[in-house]
Amino acid sequence: MMSEAERPLAPPTSLTEPFWQAAAEDRLVAQRCDRCGRLRHYPRPMCPECRSMEWQWAELSGRGEIYSYTVTHRPFHPFWKDSAPYVVATIELEEGIRMVSDMPGLDPADVAIGLAVEVGFEACGEGRKIPVFKPAGR
Ligand code: ZN
Repeated sequence: MMSEAERPLAPPTSLTEPFWQAAAEDRLVAQRCDRCGRLRHYPRPMCPECRSMEWQWAELSGRGEIYSYTVTHRPFHPFWKDSAPYVVATIELEEGIRMVSDMPGLDPADVAIGLAVEVGFEACGEGRKIPVFKPAGR
């Protein structure tokens, strides 16, 4: 059950705004380095591989698997107060980069490393959406 508190979100910055804009359109994107082609997430100005400052946004499939996870019993924010215990997972996308997501609707008894997941987009007010992962095919 959802609580009435709103999901805490980082305010967009000039660097992250296109990520949020894509999410509002149900698209998942990450930066791809123009020089070496490496994808990266979270957004940052410089490639951690080759230090290039040149990059573009690349669209991702939204498919991946659980790389690791934790089960939260005491929510750190009122948004999750009626959800505990709930899963927070590190997702390894099929493109090779990782993102962190809570997993609403996934019973902690059913979570497993390697579980196939896919992205969905949860409306969170003011026209914004946030990418949230769920078990694939559900
Ligand atoms: Zn690079």
